[in-house]
Amino acid sequence: MDGVKVIDDHTVIIENVRIIDGTERVDVTVHEGRIARIEPALSSAESERVVLPGFVDLHTHLREPGGEVSETIATGTRAAAAGGYVDVFAMANTTPVTDTLERVLAMRELARDAHARVHVVAAATIGQADQTLVDISALRNGGVTLFSDDGHCVNDEGLVHELLQRLAQSGGVFAQHAQSQRIVQKGVINARVADLVGCHGWPEAGEEAIVARDIAIARATGGHLHVCHVSTKRSVDLIRWAKSVHAPVTAEVTPHHLALSDEDAVKRGPALKVNPPLRSLGDVSALREALADGTIDVVATDHAPHPEATKSKSWRDAAFGMTAIETALPVVAEVLTTAGRTSWSRVAEVMSVAPARIGGLRRESITVGSSADLCVIESGPEYQLSVDDHHSRSRNSPFAGYSVRHRVILTMLEGRITHS
Ligand SMILES: [Zn+2]
Repeated sequence: MDGVKVIDDHTVIIENVRIIDGTERVDVTVHEGRIARIEPALSSAESERVVLPGFVDLHTHLREPGGEVSETIATGTRAAAAGGYVDVFAMANTTPVTDTLERVLAMRELARDAHARVHVVAAATIGQADQTLVDISALRNGGVTLFSDDGHCVNDEGLVHELLQRLAQSGGVFAQHAQSQRIVQKGVINARVADLVGCHGWPEAGEEAIVARDIAIARATGGHLHVCHVSTKRSVDLIRWAKSVHAPVTAEVTPHHLALSDEDAVKRGPALKVNPPLRSLGDVSALREALADGTIDVVATDHAPHPEATKSKSWRDAAFGMTAIETALPVVAEVLTTAGRTSWSRVAEVMSVAPARIGGLRRESITVGSSADLCVIESGPEYQLSVDDHHSRSRNSPFAGYSVRHRVILTMLEGRITHS
């Protein structure tokens, strides 16, 4: 590729790039997995390319085992590499559910040759049935950092209390899919627009009630609560308060909740059915503000592949979820651009540094001697995203046809090119 010179099996030179928000253009030499040299660029040509630390997704559904018709570890991590990711946390709602150390180990074995490092999330409760906690100490000793019933909420507050108490002792993070079953019931779309499509509404309070409750429990126990896919302004307010009192709480937002609203959902139909649902434009702007000011720590994709047949149904019957990992960067970069200027340091923080920190991963900065886990972004004139070149086994992206200006042109995992 133009601007990426493969010297031999061990050496690659990435030419004429800026590092994050750096002003100087440099050539980066990668040798045997590490950054060997960073020198002033030989070329004097203008360049719209930046190097960022490789991305970390705390919330990916790879579907394997059990859901290979939608995605596999191979296709999902190839999609991740195309999105600039080097680390993905694979959610536990597979078939069978990843709820024992044995299954975590089996999953790691399956992912040995993947195109990104796969970190296996363990379920919080056995079978994600909201009845009995998993064996936290065995899983912690086996190196699990994230516990989540994602896809389902841990509704039982006694279990949440016990889990966060245990995590306060052992370390590790509880990632909660906040959805009060009693409030949400059969809801499929933001409640204020439900009548327009003739379906049950998914009210904001269904999320906020759990977020408020769990923040109270995290504060009381000292266990680390991570709120998955925040979707409402009042959830943001609750998280802002939690941070103001130094409660051990972090939060994520998805690209689709940052970029799309319930009005888009009504217009475009069940292709935009997702859990939690897309919210009002007021919620969208609150989420954007919270991502910019640090109230929301990270962008996580909630990459949720589904075959065409399960998405092309009615609002009531279509599957919840969208693919997101291949399009996250261009969408997030647009969101973090003000007055034509993209804050690459904020992009690096929310897509790499902060998720690595929450997930317990070591992340080195882009300097001589550090591991070459990085991606290169090119900015240019607007172009339209297409699903035709996607590597995911599924095509349920909400961003086909969406106009953006940035793209991932290279991803490198420990010096090995995983996407170009
Ligand atoms: Zn979820």
